[in-house]
Amino acid sequence: TEELLRKSEMLSAVGELAAGIAHEIRNPLTALKGFTKLIRTGSHSEAYLEIMHQELERIESIINELLVLSKPQAVHFRPANLVAVMRDVVMLLETQALLNQVEIVFESATEELIIDCVENQLKQVFINLVKNAIEAMPNGGTVSVHLTLSGDEEVLLTVQDQGVGIPEEKLARLGEPFYTTKDKGTGLGLMVSFKIVEQHGGAIRYRSTPGQGTTAEIHLPLRKSPMTDAT
Ligand code: ADP
Ligand code: MG
Repeated sequence: TEELLRKSEMLSAVGELAAGIAHEIRNPLTALKGFTKLIRTGSHSEAYLEIMHQELERIESIINELLVLSKPQAVHFRPANLVAVMRDVVMLLETQALLNQVEIVFESATEELIIDCVENQLKQVFINLVKNAIEAMPNGGTVSVHLTLSGDEEVLLTVQDQGVGIPEEKLARLGEPFYTTKDKGTGLGLMVSFKIVEQHGGAIRYRSTPGQGTTAEIHLPLRKSPMTDAT
């Protein structure tokens, strides 16, 4: 019965997610349909095309974030150096940071921190968190990224911003599908990130002080070396 209960809970979660996705995609689709109808009846305007393009981009970003969830797992776990992965992410987001007067400062306790992972998925997680940090600082500031060992079995990555912060009663909503406070947000970034980190045997935790900033902590299990495996 416990198994049945677990399954029915899972199915209802899937149903909720599906309903959410359908809803989020139907809105831009309805707009697109309306505009194609207008154009078909001979009404042409550059402004229509601009809105249509924006709606298509919205659908695209929803699909991109969801695709990560459907990627195969387990068999594709490979050792990767998190320090190098994080360096890539910082480089990737440098332009966006600059445009927002944000400086990303990255520090790592060591040159190498190897974990078994699907590198592209973890990269996606780091991108999501650093992007959120940048977006939390409309007037610019610093995003501090720290990578370190925590005990001898865990890697700890922290992403700290000096942004708007998150009120305590909203902390529990992080990772809820479609929860967003942004005009152009999808509210899918954190759901996908939580899921990926969970699939890697880790966890994400948030601490925040409204008006001062937010710190996201990502805990990930360190790769067990063959030596320790043998004991
Ligand atoms: P999106 O970025 O599309 O809104 P996310 O799932 O990435 O979706 O984030 C959900 C919400 O969590 C954001 O809209 C924001 O309200 C809140 N949030 C996430 N990270 C931060 C942060 N570093 N500072 C303040 N709020 C944050
Ligand atoms: Mg986001």
